[in-house]
Amino acid sequence: MTAYDVDLVAAMRAALDAGEFVLHYQPEVDLASGEVVAMEALIRWQHPDRGLLWPAEFLPAAEASGFIVELGRWVVQEALREALLWQRLPAARAAAGKQLWLNISATELAAPGFADYAVALVRASGLPVGRLGFEVRETALGSDLAAMGGVLAALKQAGILIALDDFGTWYSALSHLDELPLDTVKLDQRFVRGVGLDVEDDAIVASVIRLAHAHGLQVVAEGVESWSEGARLCELECDRAHGYLFAGPQLPERARVLLARGVGWIAPGHPERLAVPDARLAVADDLEPPHLVL
Ligand code: C2E
Ligand code: MG
Ligand code: MG
Repeated sequence: MTAYDVDLVAAMRAALDAGEFVLHYQPEVDLASGEVVAMEALIRWQHPDRGLLWPAEFLPAAEASGFIVELGRWVVQEALREALLWQRLPAARAAAGKQLWLNISATELAAPGFADYAVALVRASGLPVGRLGFEVRETALGSDLAAMGGVLAALKQAGILIALDDFGTWYSALSHLDELPLDTVKLDQRFVRGVGLDVEDDAIVASVIRLAHAHGLQVVAEGVESWSEGARLCELECDRAHGYLFAGPQLPERARVLLARGVGWIAPGHPERLAVPDARLAVADDLEPPHLVL
């Protein structure tokens, strides 16, 4: 087992009991229509002394100690609560059809009972099929692809969407497109940074998009920061993107507003698609998350 900070893990356990973990939500934009079509849930720790901590500061210890399994169950519950709340937002906010994606680590995926837990929770919630998705890093699939594929298939059968995260970071991953029950691939931001600039990166992105489409999968570009990256991805017919160009991770209340109002992305050549902000959407914190019976 990897060495980890025992005190940090004890502090995380206490923080989970104290309700100090929160999920922030980052919009995913349909590059052609400009609409926000999904959100990715990203965990944060609202530390009473140290302020808001990002995953890099605590997830490695959570992973190494195995605490991630307990924390991950909380993430599934919390994300599901938010996805259910979107179903209940007034129609004007148009949130009901949107997808919510959460991240699952290798340890969680391999933990006995994790998939059963997630499937039971999603089924009991009554959330319509195709609204909740799990993102799995391609490196998480490790050596036992058959076992992981089985777990993913069980999740998919329960209507949970599956994305391969950080795609392109593992050279053998192209074969996974055939072997796993995927809906989406998320192109690692390392390649996005070179799109339109670096001949090799640009060619890789173009071929990944073509290949993924040939397999009936959607492609999401991660970490888009500049207009030229967004425009080139549009040209290459990438389906969706997230990144600071559109919006960073948001508090839940703010994310609910952006779901309907959009983030102001206009596909190159389509100025008529400029979304006009609706003043009625300015306040979206009037609904409490639904009570989830576990
Ligand atoms: P990820 O799933 O690949 O998430 C994308 C990361 O890129 C997030 O970092 C996000 O804040 C960041 N990002 C988004 N747009 C941009 C951009 O335009 N530029 C740059 N430079 N970065 C951008 P974050 O929130 O620090 O999360 C890091 C990783 O931690 C995630 O990578 C994911 O693997 C993991 N993670 C986050 N939340 C959870 C969780 O609830 N459970 C588990 N197991 N892992 C999580
Ligand atoms: Mg992710
Ligand atoms: Mg990623």
